[in-house]
Amino acid sequence: MSKRSMAFITPLLRAGDIITSKCDIVSMNFAELSRLVAEFGEPDYRAKQIFSRLQSGIGSFDEITNIPKIFREKLSEKCYIARCKIKRRFESKLDDTVKYLFELNDGEFIESVLMRYRHGYTACISTQVGCNMGCKFCASGLYGKTRDLTASEMISQITAIQADKNVRISNIVLMGMGEPLDNFDNTARFLKLVSNDEGLNIGLRHISVSTCGVVSGIEKLAALNMPVTLSVSLHAPFDSIRDTIMPINKKWSITELIAACKKYQSVTTRRISFEYALISGVNDSDACAKELARILKGIMCHINLIPANPVNENSFLRPDKNRISEFKNLLTSYGMTATVRRTLGADIDASCGQLRRQLRKETNGATIQ
Ligand code: SAH
Repeated sequence: MSKRSMAFITPLLRAGDIITSKCDIVSMNFAELSRLVAEFGEPDYRAKQIFSRLQSGIGSFDEITNIPKIFREKLSEKCYIARCKIKRRFESKLDDTVKYLFELNDGEFIESVLMRYRHGYTACISTQVGCNMGCKFCASGLYGKTRDLTASEMISQITAIQADKNVRISNIVLMGMGEPLDNFDNTARFLKLVSNDEGLNIGLRHISVSTCGVVSGIEKLAALNMPVTLSVSLHAPFDSIRDTIMPINKKWSITELIAACKKYQSVTTRRISFEYALISGVNDSDACAKELARILKGIMCHINLIPANPVNENSFLRPDKNRISEFKNLLTSYGMTATVRRTLGADIDASCGQLRRQLRKETNGATIQ
């Protein structure tokens, strides 16, 4: 098969291809696999046979034992399997949270977290290596974005965690490193693959897509009309504050963001989740609580208050416990549903971009960009 025909099959997939010049087979959907097996001169039912195996987290083509060896060999010549190798694992002693630093096929590093809740296991996964959004309080964006993750690399974070802990993940949050809506096509592809009942079969209603406010992406996601939960990292109700902590706000103002959220809700009828990292002296005033309640009026939503995690390079600190509960009570008094997020894995730096940053520091930036 020519390289050109492979490129035709996987127009979206870039990352691993650059390294291996091979085709990213785990990112392929049924239709694409059907075309692939046809190009190999194999019967169409092979597509179904290999799809489930590819989505289950296998490490090599030899593990697809339900197809002839000769076909496995042909596949391994032309395709590669995206993998997450555990570089480091941190297990919280306070709860069952596990944080992973994964190494990708091309040597890049990403982070994922496994959390145990009463209703089951949730994986928090990354969508990019680094991040271009530049939120001032976040460790992921400190060095910009290196590259987007492929859908297969998002899948493989889940399968690697499931295999490591021998658990079934029932919920996913796209709240690790990266901005999912700045990697829209691969994220949308991932959502379709991961919810496929021949694959990991994780229901879209059990998946949250978190965004710093990429309005064009919210509109595109609404157009797909998938019942995923939209989670919006709002963090400030005034443009004057949001402009200073989240550069994306200069592109799309709070008014535009809220309008996009309303549109998303009118299409999907899903409750929206607003994330609000409380930073002492920045966004924790009474006036902020009042304005937050005002701008979210009329949206069926939940406000998640997150005491900010201090990141060394900046001076953002969380308010004290009293102020946090006062802020929450104010919101409740204005008729909003708000909770303070329980901090899981507090002893293992289980927040966005901190492990990769730590490794980068240890190696003086030599091994990771
Ligand atoms: N780019 C997406 C998803 C990744 S960040 C987004 O912005 O939503 C996941 C969440 O962690 C976001 O709500 C982000 O604002 C928040 N976050 C990042 N750094 C934080 C910190 N130091 N303290 C508290 N929350 C933080």
